[in-house]
Amino acid sequence: MKDRALINISLERIDTLFSEAMKTDNIELSRRYIKIMEKIGMRMNITVDRRIKRMYCKICKTPYKNISVTVKNKMVMVHCPYCGSIRRIPINKQKK
Ligand SMILES: [Zn+2]
Repeated sequence: MKDRALINISLERIDTLFSEAMKTDNIELSRRYIKIMEKIGMRMNITVDRRIKRMYCKICKTPYKNISVTVKNKMVMVHCPYCGSIRRIPINKQKK
């Protein structure tokens, strides 16, 4: 049974965990925060906000801080400095 109050609490926790992950300089700690954040989303069956989702690497779960971004073939390429993966985001989908 999904309860509105429970959903609100979990959304709040996702926000808090993400801002803590961005604040800390400890990479291991920020990865842990992101993993907990994803678990809360999974358990409550809620989608983590797109703005938050695009702020961390999907593969190594590290928040992007000073990253390099290039534009190629109408795609924004985000290079993760920690695991070396490249994420491609289509430009026309970014407006929403
Ligand atoms: Zn990565």
